[in-house]
Amino acid sequence: MTVHPVTITGEPVLHRRAAVVTEFDEQLRTLIADMFETMDEANGVGLAAPQIGVGQRIFVYGMVNDDDVAPRGVLVNPTLVTTKISGADPDPDEESEGCLSVPGESFPLKRAEWVKVTGFDGFGERVEFVATGWFARCMQHEYDHLEGKLYVDRLVEPYSRAARKAIKKNAWGTPGLTWMPGVDPDPFGH
Ligand SMILES: [Zn+2]
Repeated sequence: MTVHPVTITGEPVLHRRAAVVTEFDEQLRTLIADMFETMDEANGVGLAAPQIGVGQRIFVYGMVNDDDVAPRGVLVNPTLVTTKISGADPDPDEESEGCLSVPGESFPLKRAEWVKVTGFDGFGERVEFVATGWFARCMQHEYDHLEGKLYVDRLVEPYSRAARKAIKKNAWGTPGLTWMPGVDPDPFGH
């Protein structure tokens, strides 16, 4: 297994729709193992394939949850059904989200409280579960990556402006930037 560099916002693969996986083979399973390894080394709770530069519809997660779902898993070619997202202002203390591809930053964002996730594992076996609360948030965040969307693209003012400023200040938003879990300092201080 190999830890991969994590792509940073501006890298084109993060900003385009990822491709459907068609072959459930050893190569896919090696990629999934590498994604778990990279997520763990980065102290992340989720990682989508575009975050290691692979434009395919795969994400992994590692999150204990209240939904009786395995605390670690992979979704290949997932679909999400969600409840409606509240139009209320997001709570900076309770609803702040972060992303390994916008390292060290976090901003509040409303998400659906409930999602139904369906998809496949690395062997092509069907996976289906319901996620709530923070686990539901994680699912929506990772799924967004497969649609070429980062959480910072969903922010409302004043947070979207703050995020744009942070990206500019860090000189991100340009292709080719990565950071290396286990080598570079943990951006979230874990
Ligand atoms: Zn992310």
